[in-house]
Amino acid sequence: MRPQLFGAGVLVMALAAVFYVLEIPLVYFWSIPFAIGGAIMAIASLFLPESAGPVEPPEGYRFCPFCSNPVRLDAKRCDHCNGVQSGGAA
Ligand SMILES: [Zn+2]
Repeated sequence: MRPQLFGAGVLVMALAAVFYVLEIPLVYFWSIPFAIGGAIMAIASLFLPESAGPVEPPEGYRFCPFCSNPVRLDAKRCDHCNGVQSGGAA
């Protein structure tokens, strides 16, 4: 599950409940789609796999800051976009 998406879904449903209780014209109407959308987010979060987190480059490589392609750590320039590689284990 994804706790962040679940939290967001609960938040949207809470917002829908507030809209429903306040009974403001037009805003009140939106409480229904909000409640449905929030429920979908919360339910979907239970079935979605945990997000993998930041993507790690392969061993001995790092990502080019210009085009995000893997570049060897000892390479001075990116093979893909020819961008100059700065810093790192140069
Ligand atoms: Zn590049």
